[in-house]
Amino acid sequence: MTRVLVIEDDAQIRRFLRLALDGEGCVVQEASRLDVGVAASRLGPDLVLLDLGLPDGDGLDFIAPFRTRSRAPVIVLSARGQEADKVAALDAGADDYLVKPFGMAELLARVRAQLRRRAGEGAADATAFGFGDVAVDLSRREVCRAGTPVHLTPVEYRLLEFFLAHAGRVLTHRQILREVWGPGHAESSHTLRVYVGKLRHKLEADPAQPSHLLTEIGVGYRMEI
Ligand code: CA
Repeated sequence: MTRVLVIEDDAQIRRFLRLALDGEGCVVQEASRLDVGVAASRLGPDLVLLDLGLPDGDGLDFIAPFRTRSRAPVIVLSARGQEADKVAALDAGADDYLVKPFGMAELLARVRAQLRRRAGEGAADATAFGFGDVAVDLSRREVCRAGTPVHLTPVEYRLLEFFLAHAGRVLTHRQILREVWGPGHAESSHTLRVYVGKLRHKLEADPAQPSHLLTEIGVGYRMEI
C-alpha cells in the first residue's frame, strides 16, 4: 500500500487528488493546513503532494525539516506565477512540481515516476546506465554511443554523472551548478546551458529535440533514462 499525504487547502483539489489516487490503490491522508500536514508527515508517508500557499504558512517550510527524516518524494503543487516559489521548493529538496490546473493523467504519471524512482534508489550504487543508444559505465568512467567511445571533458562527465545520479528528478540551475561546479559558481546558469548543449550534441539523437536531457523551462533540467 502506498501512503500519500496531500497537503492542500483547496477542498476541490483535495477531492480530485483523492479520487485519482484512490483509483491507483493508494491510501490518501489529507491535510488542509501546514501544521496538520507536518503532524501527519510523522507517520511516514511514501509520497507527499504539497501545496505552497497554505492558510497557516508557506508549504516551502515543510520541505527542509521533512527531508531531515524522510527521503519520500515531494511533489509541489504550484499555481502559475509562482515560478520563484517553485524553484525555491526544488532547491529545498522537493523532487518535482505540477502547475495548477493539472489533469489526472499528468498527476498520476508524475506520482508513478517518483515512486518508481524511489523504489530504484535501493540500487543507487548502480554504476551502469543506458539511455537511447548510449551506455555509461561509471566504474570505468566510460561513455559509449552505439558501441563507439564518446570523449567527454571532465566537467561534461561530472555533469552527466550528476544527472544520472538524480534521473527523474527536476534539478534547478542552482543545485546543478553547486554540485558540479562548486558553491562559487551558483550564478552562471549561462555556463550550464552551454555544457548541457555540449552533452546533448554528444549524446542525444536529435540535440534540438532532446529526449533524455530535458529542459524544465525557467527551473532547470531533468534527466529521463
Ligand atoms: Ca492553496
